[in-house]
Amino acid sequence: MAENKKEKKEKKQKGEYKEGKFCPKCGSRMAAHSDRSSCGKCGYTEFKNSNSK
Ligand SMILES: [Zn+2]
Repeated sequence: MAENKKEKKEKKQKGEYKEGKFCPKCGSRMAAHSDRSSCGKCGYTEFKNSNSK
């Protein structure tokens, strides 16, 4: 578990990585917000209430 130390630090700062969703674009872990998930690496954002699913 000694990989991506830099990323881990970023995650800790945000503290919103509970859901463990991964970005479909770059494969990075996404930040889980109340209504969306966003990738801090490539900027991809996925809205939770955007679709019926
Ligand atoms: Zn991404």
